Amino acid sequence: MAAGDMASTRLGAGRQHLRPLKRRGLVLLRLTAIVFAVLLFCEFLIYYLVIFRCSWPAVKTPADAGGLGTPEPVLRAMFLADTHLLGAVRGHWLDKLRREWQMERAFQTALWLLQPGVVFILGDVFDEGKWSSSQAWADDVGRFWKIFRHPPHVQLRAVAGNHDIGFHYQMNTYKIKRFEKVFNPERLFSWKGINFVMVNSVALEGDGCDICSGAEAELLEISHRLNCSREQEHRPQECGDGQQLPASAPILLQHFPLYRRNDANCSGEDAAPPDEKYTPFKERYDALSQEASRKLLWWLRPRLVLSGHTHSACEVLHGAGVLEVSVPSFSWRNRNNPSFIMKL
Ligand SMILES: [Zn+2]
Repeated sequence: MAAGDMASTRLGAGRQHLRPLKRRGLVLLRLTAIVFAVLLFCEFLIYYLVIFRCSWPAVKTPADAGGLGTPEPVLRAMFLADTHLLGAVRGHWLDKLRREWQMERAFQTALWLLQPGVVFILGDVFDEGKWSSSQAWADDVGRFWKIFRHPPHVQLRAVAGNHDIGFHYQMNTYKIKRFEKVFNPERLFSWKGINFVMVNSVALEGDGCDICSGAEAELLEISHRLNCSREQEHRPQECGDGQQLPASAPILLQHFPLYRRNDANCSGEDAAPPDEKYTPFKERYDALSQEASRKLLWWLRPRLVLSGHTHSACEVLHGAGVLEVSVPSFSWRNRNNPSFIMKL
């Protein structure tokens, strides 16, 4: 055999080796592309597809009703609850990474698609605020602002939950102050004609402790200001020179729900599962005490109450028809279909 023939035979065998290699490369490339597409869909695009189906409730303007008045300014408010950002003690890093990615994507997508003016988080923002060291707290807060970053024209406010500052007997001024340093401590504020009262429901134990009596005194003061604004037309001299509030019933925002026996009367797909619905609520633990609930309703005469803590949704009427909406948890760790509430 000539030397040239030998060389071409070797080259031929080489090409035969190359072909399966090339095929394997192609298969690998295709597989990578599929994995990438699946990841892109499941970890990114799905949030747009799902949240795109949500829309703000329709508002009847005077023009719709045939009137000539100028339309009222509308405030788009989004309510989340129980985000439970995992802490240093109980949180596994992978669990943390996963849950926080899910919440970040859901929140950022909702912000982009729905453009709310204000976002409220109804307590238990952090899982371990009740015991975390100052270092762990700073770390949790840093991650919180990354997940829930928002443009400056969007307001974000939160009320404290039992996981943020501890239940009544774990709670102290230091934990309350450090929570309020992160979130605006203002209890009463008005925006676009709506009065909001941010209630520290953990401090409504009713045992006369320093923090509890302070919280009640503050609520009474707010009640006085709200009553003045409602009656200022009739008795303006009683209201003093303080800043005037819109003359409308407030919306209460709190972590613990007002007292209810259980979740039996809650309906809807986000309500508690049937095996949990009939579990009786313990006062001061699962819900506020009956006494504290009555006080809130008497003093503030709200038009709507929004609460968290139960991790499931519920719509319930109190007393003379005051609606309370319990907002389900926003974390996949607590439920398989986390959600939020949108109100105008
Ligand atoms: Zn809670």
